[in-house]
Amino acid sequence: MKPNTVMRHALWTIGPDPDRDPPTMHTVCRECGEKSPVGTDREVSDLWALEHSGRTGHRRYHECVSVDLITRPAREEAAR
Ligand SMILES: [Zn+2]
Repeated sequence: MKPNTVMRHALWTIGPDPDRDPPTMHTVCRECGEKSPVGTDREVSDLWALEHSGRTGHRRYHECVSVDLITRPAREEAAR
């Protein structure tokens, strides 16, 4: 930051990007680290975890969901 930089307080918001692709998800086994395929259908990752449990006896999972977000000035959001 240069000594002559002007800063002002501005309210910004963050939320889902209206132009986003569908959220993607996958499941990770917390016991061995194996991962389900990445996709947009929760049923696929849930089924993967159930089948993984059946094969390995592992029962703890971490679900990872990815959603595109966008930030914008609050006044811009209010104008929408
Ligand atoms: Zn596992």
